[in-house]
Amino acid sequence: MHTIQVMDEDLANKIAAGEVVERTMNVVKELVENAIDAKSSEIKIELVDAGVKEIRVIDNGIGMNKEDAVLAFKRHATSKLKSIEELFHIHSLGFRGEALPSIAAVSHLTLKTSDGEEGTLVEMDGGKEKEVSSCDLRKGTDITVKDLFYNTPVRLKYLKNLYTELAHITDYVNKMALSYPNIKFVLKNNGKVLLNTDGTNRLLKVINDIYGLSVTKKMVEVEGENDDYHVSGFISYPELMKSNRNAITVLVNGRYIRNNELNRFITDCYHTYMPPDKYPIVVLSIEADPILIDVNVHPTKMDIKFSKMDSLKELIASLIKDKLEKLTLIPDASTSTVVEGNETKISNHYSTTSLDEFNREEKDQEYEHFEKMTLNLEVREEDEVVDKLEEEDEEKPSMEEEPRIKEMYPVGLVHGTYIVAENEDGMFLIDQHAANERINYEYYLKEMSSPKKEKMDLLVPVSVELPNNEYLIFKENFNVFENLGFGFEEFGSNTIIIRTVPLWLQRAREEDAIHKIIEIIVEKEDFNSERFFHLIAATVACKASIKANDFITIDEMRTLLSRLRACKNPFTCPHGRPTIITFSKYELERLFKRAM
Ligand code: ZN
Ligand code: ZN
Repeated sequence: MHTIQVMDEDLANKIAAGEVVERTMNVVKELVENAIDAKSSEIKIELVDAGVKEIRVIDNGIGMNKEDAVLAFKRHATSKLKSIEELFHIHSLGFRGEALPSIAAVSHLTLKTSDGEEGTLVEMDGGKEKEVSSCDLRKGTDITVKDLFYNTPVRLKYLKNLYTELAHITDYVNKMALSYPNIKFVLKNNGKVLLNTDGTNRLLKVINDIYGLSVTKKMVEVEGENDDYHVSGFISYPELMKSNRNAITVLVNGRYIRNNELNRFITDCYHTYMPPDKYPIVVLSIEADPILIDVNVHPTKMDIKFSKMDSLKELIASLIKDKLEKLTLIPDASTSTVVEGNETKISNHYSTTSLDEFNREEKDQEYEHFEKMTLNLEVREEDEVVDKLEEEDEEKPSMEEEPRIKEMYPVGLVHGTYIVAENEDGMFLIDQHAANERINYEYYLKEMSSPKKEKMDLLVPVSVELPNNEYLIFKENFNVFENLGFGFEEFGSNTIIIRTVPLWLQRAREEDAIHKIIEIIVEKEDFNSERFFHLIAATVACKASIKANDFITIDEMRTLLSRLRACKNPFTCPHGRPTIITFSKYELERLFKRAM
């Protein structure tokens, strides 16, 4: 029986329209997806010069018989899809039985494959069959693509930057390894190992293989479901910041997808925990009825549409935000916080010879140790939580909200900016402006959303004059300004006079704050969103807070610290910068070599 079928003309045309093999990555992607479809448990990708010279993919999948192996290079042959309908559901990884003949057409290609009974070798030269013979091979497929685009020099020109090609391939193989933790992936370039997973179906281990142990230690598990979706995976502590969205990996029914709306939303869940131009590391696996998913048919994109996006967002938001609200998020001063994953591995790649093999064994041991420790720890923590809850049930049924950080005692001030504090756990540095900003921010948010809007009269009315275009926009939104609690009247053509302000504004420097608020109203469009209130509160909080170089007394420090502890999120200012960093007691001892 053949597993390869010639697909119908209509589908072939649809696919041919978008068919592209323009980078080495496209070739790797096609061959790897073939290997996955062939039920491989081990896939090796070996590149020479980022794949420009040679790409070899070896798998241990079901392989092909002679007939299928020859048919694989005929146009429109595919084993993956039979009808247009199937394109709209995710049953299979690839769309393109088209790609193999396309790859063969622009390279020297050698296919060795065996279904366990007979081994077949097919050699192709620029798309022409050169040789078909029998060969020895155990079950699986071994494809070598050499001299890509040798006969289409124009396309070859685009492949000049080996670093870029390699970065694309690595990124792709990373995502596949995350999608299939049960498959062992090995990626090598010029003999050097860039990724080596063990196929033991542990997602966190794959994360470790890609990003390293220091990142892995700062990942936490999330899991939950609602009527439509089940979501599980790992999210990073906010202190692990990436400068691009690349480290957000979303899998749907086991398949890697790229959905900008969802990626943006996941980043938004870290709002105020992270500066706006930074991104978390997230690996989320979504399971859903295929009916809720629409595949974007363009074969080079990996985008899909969710028909119940709101329900999915709600679930993801609750998972991430709940988790962040439970963590203690004081970054350790001794660990660096911006990570670049194995991009650095690539950049080292062309310059250094490596101790890879040796290093990896050691690293694996480190990981196993870490996994053992944390698993034990989690069990213990859960027990403790249960114990604690039981105790609390007995003692005080209505418990107040516990502060998320322990009490800290101020010792002094450094550079008029950083409070030095201590407790039995270690030493803390607190940015007095950021801390004050967080306190004020939460205060303003609360006051702005409280139904009773208390106002007060200004001793000296404030007049604001705007350029005429801005004044027009502002005038249209007078009600927004009024609803915030301002009392004012128009004066002349482009000016208003403000006589009353909301009581919460009292602590801010009013005039500055008023100008800022009007600026926000003029720029914004959606005044009912959380974001609008966030912007106003964050802006006013910044204005109202002590600045760097304001020298404050120990008593003032004490007050500041206790009010910071009372915050819902005491760890970052509303702009996502940290308020506290710590040197743990252990870290201090280690640094002074009192402990090893
Ligand atoms: Zn500020
Ligand atoms: Zn800030």
